[in-house]
Amino acid sequence: MLFDPRPKKRREELFDREEEINELVTTSEPLTLLLGIRRVGKSSLLRVALNELENGVYIDARKMYFDSGGWITSESLIREFERALNSLRGAIKGRVFEVLGHVRGVSISGLRLELGRDVRLSEVLEALNEVGAVVGIDEAQYLRFYGSRGGREFLALLAYSYDNLDNLRFILTGSEVGLLHDFLGTDDYESPLYGRAHREVVLKPFPRELSIGFLRRGFSEMNVDVSSEVIEEAVDVLDGVPGWLVEFGRRYAETRDLKGSLDYVFNRARGFLRGELEELKRRSPRYVLILEAIARGHNRWELIRDYLSSRGQRVPNSRLAGLLRNLEKMSWIEEDFSSGVKRYRITDPVIERVLVE
Ligand code: ADP
Ligand code: MG
Repeated sequence: MLFDPRPKKRREELFDREEEINELVTTSEPLTLLLGIRRVGKSSLLRVALNELENGVYIDARKMYFDSGGWITSESLIREFERALNSLRGAIKGRVFEVLGHVRGVSISGLRLELGRDVRLSEVLEALNEVGAVVGIDEAQYLRFYGSRGGREFLALLAYSYDNLDNLRFILTGSEVGLLHDFLGTDDYESPLYGRAHREVVLKPFPRELSIGFLRRGFSEMNVDVSSEVIEEAVDVLDGVPGWLVEFGRRYAETRDLKGSLDYVFNRARGFLRGELEELKRRSPRYVLILEAIARGHNRWELIRDYLSSRGQRVPNSRLAGLLRNLEKMSWIEEDFSSGVKRYRITDPVIERVLVE
């Protein structure tokens, strides 16, 4: 069902994205980044691609981060690998177990594999290399909280795999595109991954026609008759982020109330946003003020600066530049030169609207 709110896992559940699936499935690059804003369908695409591959292993870095209280320990990474390996199916599962069975610290009882506390991750990766596995890591920017050195031990592992394990591929994804780049540091000579080329697949919101097609198909799957006016108006307001279209479709199918369903989406967006804004606020309360300023149309440098000072937050130019750069890296905002001068805008119009309230 297109309007199922969970990340999709099978190809037939996914609308469009054929090209991107093929890119992920056929690439032989050791490292691929799957990039895009929140709710655009990265987790879904990653899971579908890994599923198509059969030897795909899915790991969620954000989950590890929250489960272990704002930190990722090697123990939690091992547990996550264990869970992922146990969720493999069919012949590939047998083959992975057979290969891993010879690794120290791994025990297998029946259909369950256990990774002992002292198992070495490099050995697990070597075994995965033997079966040509593809390791997909969702919200990978959270791996900077792995270990005590900003995730460098993990990057070293990745670099080791890149250089030596020819059959093992990694696909990393995350909403915070710039942070993911910073973390990997392929252009930073101090990073363990320095100089390694990688492929990027960028997932965009659907263009208007596809967004309309998305809603049409979702409604027709549910046998709900909906006029073109309703669909077009929804797309006018929501734009092409599939996560929001799904929320709208579900609600409208239930209530047949256009305005109520749009409000419902904004409510849901508000819910998503609350947690994320709290996290931002902890880093600096100014981030939230800047987002507010831009959402309210104070979208040029001087206007943002004035908005901040009117709220009692005078910031030097260099500091403001840094804050804006970080918001861009976290994909909250983007630069917009269409008027001839540099303005900023909130990347996702649904988020923009919620920020204005
Ligand atoms: P992200 O990981 O980028 O935040 P998700 O994969 O979690 O996005 O998708 C958000 C929501 O949108 C989910 O409900 C998912 O099922 C839906 N979705 C995203 N892309 C598609 C697609 N191409 N076809 C159908 N549903 C999609
Ligand atoms: Mg996701």
